[in-house]
Amino acid sequence: MSPSDCARVVDLLADYLEQRLPADVRMELDRHLDRCPACLKQVQTYRSTVSLLRSLGDDDLPSELRSSLRAFLDRGSTN
Ligand SMILES: [Zn+2]
Repeated sequence: MSPSDCARVVDLLADYLEQRLPADVRMELDRHLDRCPACLKQVQTYRSTVSLLRSLGDDDLPSELRSSLRAFLDRGSTN
């Protein structure tokens, strides 16, 4: 897997988890996640962070929070 694929996964992660991606892009991501433990871990981290936030009572994440989550994940991926 090339690093650019991983960058793409990070880029699409929020839309992926909110099921806003077209089916073909989703499938492409799923295939990548099957082979890339690093990205799979990012997905799991993101998902548990989002569900934690939602369990606090906010079902619709403010865009500010969404971008800070994204920034958090971006930092994680550049290490
Ligand atoms: Zn990857």
